[in-house]
Amino acid sequence: MDSLYDLTFTHLEDTLRNEGIKAIHAQKLYRLLYKDSITLDDLTPGVRDWLSKRTTTKATVVRDIASSDGCTRKFVLCFDDGQEIETVLMGYRGRYTACISSQAGCAMGCVFCATGKMGFKRHLSAGEMVAQVRFLNTHLASEGEEPLRNVVMMGMGEPLHNYKELMTALEIISDPRGICIAPSRISISTVGHIPGIKKLAEAGTAYELSVSLHGASDVERDALIPVNKRWPIADLLETCRIYSEKTKRKVLIAWTLIEGANDSDDHAIRLAQLLKGRQVHVNLIPLNPTEGFDGQPPSEERVLAFQRIIKETAEVPVTIRQRRGIDVGAGCGQLAG
Ligand code: SF4
Repeated sequence: MDSLYDLTFTHLEDTLRNEGIKAIHAQKLYRLLYKDSITLDDLTPGVRDWLSKRTTTKATVVRDIASSDGCTRKFVLCFDDGQEIETVLMGYRGRYTACISSQAGCAMGCVFCATGKMGFKRHLSAGEMVAQVRFLNTHLASEGEEPLRNVVMMGMGEPLHNYKELMTALEIISDPRGICIAPSRISISTVGHIPGIKKLAEAGTAYELSVSLHGASDVERDALIPVNKRWPIADLLETCRIYSEKTKRKVLIAWTLIEGANDSDDHAIRLAQLLKGRQVHVNLIPLNPTEGFDGQPPSEERVLAFQRIIKETAEVPVTIRQRRGIDVGAGCGQLAG
């Protein structure tokens, strides 16, 4: 039997109907499951009885580590089969973002990423992604804080490699009758999974799409992201163009800056040439250190010089991502269970 966290609102209505309960009760059940705005006493005895035979996905905290600046907290959560994953809470004073895992481990093998080094363990179900969000909202409420404002699918795993479960989870997370995080506040981060981006374009979803590029030629990108051999840069950028055309949304291009590998003026010029005239926004991410990868982040001056070249040559917006939670291994590419 599915966990209740696996059910979209429509699926919950259908399930109730099939089991002889009026679909109208789905409204109250969603509020009970996701908003804490009603209690069991607000349900009819028949619905209470139905609910008592159902389960929700359990995510038990194994470790809880706060960063020294107090702005990031990493939770290691364990599901019923013993599989552990990491989920990260970032922000402060009512502006909280969840960084959610979509898989345990990852099959993509990016060389600078601790999750990639773990290899692929398994996909997470929609309910296991929803359970992470639910867990963080419950945690925030227990500290008297506002609920999550944003969700980024940027934790462990390649979300588009787990497309169907991802789409179900995001439908539940964005449903205004439940958790209610607007699609425009939800970001899907991909290493460049072309079949998944095509499906997103066809679906016309309003989620933000972030594509990790990191290399301006196939040879350079192959060395960092092995799946570039399968989904090379030209095909990837063409797919992003189609995505922007269909969805009328800009694609965020993520570029992890690694000293000596992809941070020179020459790299910036070649990246700018690739991106000029495209519907993109570039996000520069100075590398976060991980065990087993020797690379280092560039100096601040180098990052600023790189930003300036892209801005002036490609004439596209460029921002530098704030590095958060590095000291507790909660930054991009650092999650390893
Ligand atoms: S960077 Fe993302 S896609 Fe690449 S190995 Fe790490 S989790 Fe997987």
